[in-house]
Amino acid sequence: MTTGHANLSELRESETARMLAACSECGACFDACPMVPYAPDARGAEKSEAVRGVLDVLTGGQGNAAARGWIAACTRSGSCNEACPEAVNPMLMLRLAKWRASETGALPKRDSAEVMSRVKVFARLSFTEEEQRDWL
Ligand code: SF4
Repeated sequence: MTTGHANLSELRESETARMLAACSECGACFDACPMVPYAPDARGAEKSEAVRGVLDVLTGGQGNAAARGWIAACTRSGSCNEACPEAVNPMLMLRLAKWRASETGALPKRDSAEVMSRVKVFARLSFTEEEQRDWL
């Protein structure tokens, strides 16, 4: 586990580099995501295009509408991790992309706040109190 900001920052950079190298852009994570049907910008998008957009956001770009909608809608179900054939950890990939997007402005803060409240409502319906403490 990490023990400080420097280590967290290093871990973030090394994880980002690992994901960029490992991801084949197959889109299996996008297909497996239970939130995509509820994200208007992501629903119906071409899966590899959505993944490419996430990778772009991860490296400081604006991505594309499908990627931004998907990132914003993520509730960390983990379904993507089970689907990924390359052990990328797409759940973490989306989390890191959301973090980067909040820094670059790729996701407006207003959207992030709306998404967070929706995430919390969703979480209360489906997650244990312990999971909510850990994740929210
Ligand atoms: S993260 Fe995994 S499942 Fe998603 S596109 Fe990359 S290789 Fe495929």
